[in-house]
Amino acid sequence: MSTKNIILITLDGFRKDKIGLCPSLKSIKENSYYFSEMNTIAHYTFAAHHVIFSGMYPSCNGVDGYYKMFNFKKDEITTLAEMLRKNDYYTVSETLDESVLPRQGFDEYNLFDEKTVNLKKRHMELIKKLSKKEKFFAFLHFTDTHLHYVRDIVQKYEKSENDDEYYKSKKENNEKYNASVSSCDEYVSGIIQTLQESNLFEKTVLIFISDHGTGLGEKHGEKFYGVFVYENTINIFCIMHIPGKSPKIISKQCSTIDLFPTIAELAGIRIENKSKIQGQSLLYLIDDSSAKDREVFVETGGLYGPWPSPEKHNIFCVKIHGKKLIYNDAPQTWEFYDLKNDPNELHNIYDERSKQIGDLKRKLISHFKENKIITKLNENTS
Ligand SMILES: [Zn+2]
Repeated sequence: MSTKNIILITLDGFRKDKIGLCPSLKSIKENSYYFSEMNTIAHYTFAAHHVIFSGMYPSCNGVDGYYKMFNFKKDEITTLAEMLRKNDYYTVSETLDESVLPRQGFDEYNLFDEKTVNLKKRHMELIKKLSKKEKFFAFLHFTDTHLHYVRDIVQKYEKSENDDEYYKSKKENNEKYNASVSSCDEYVSGIIQTLQESNLFEKTVLIFISDHGTGLGEKHGEKFYGVFVYENTINIFCIMHIPGKSPKIISKQCSTIDLFPTIAELAGIRIENKSKIQGQSLLYLIDDSSAKDREVFVETGGLYGPWPSPEKHNIFCVKIHGKKLIYNDAPQTWEFYDLKNDPNELHNIYDERSKQIGDLKRKLISHFKENKIITKLNENTS
């Protein structure tokens, strides 16, 4: 296991419910471990990636706000790339901007201009080059779907007075989004083809995730993502192709904080300072049929929307066993959803007297305490 290469690909903003429109992505999904209840911890691009590369919640790694993109605690944290490089991996990153993920630990930290680049061609060539390395880790950022959909919408609804029209145009938004996914599938197919042609497919762990979903107007106030903590933006997917392993769907709940220890285990690396790493390897979820859902905590602070808070996260949720409790710190309101019976979160059934809700509240508050997250609920006690 430990001699394998690792490629981690983010399909930026790719919605889980669109995999079926992409034959190559669907095929690799069906031939891999598929984590159907994967959640992103902070659902905007750079906070999402700093969680993955640190294995820590945003408040612990420093990137816990839109305006804190460069606050990563680099002197205190060993990143995923650093750990792999220390263990003889040649490490490469391909992204569009330095804010997306920390530079430390990469032998090559390449930036591309998403407006002009042909990512399929570029990454196919990169993989061919990497095939000459003994052992490599590559992070590849595919930004086309995000770019096309968001650019389309931003251009159309540039003036905020047009916002209502956006939320009324769900069908049209959905069609626009669908039109943007074919380039993603061509990309996925190109990557897989290159791996096969370079004799790497059987020697490489290949992981596809999305960093967040993309709202299509389902929730008034959230044009794309990062404003609220509803399922359409936080519930993502993870496809993990490990050579020699039979495909399996893993429907236990988990999150992107688990990717760091998973990749370490796949690479045969013992994590040195384990106490700092907050997730758990996903491999236990695959092998242990009695494994339970993992508690998931998600947080954000919007750039826009009803309670913008780019300096500090102010919207939080805890999820377990199909139930979800949301806390909105600006108005100090709570929401509770039964996701099995109400997957679109249309009926807030929060009830102060419910024991189940009380239990989730305590979990959320102790999560705040453990991670030094300050909200109006605990600002006087911390
Ligand atoms: Zn993103």
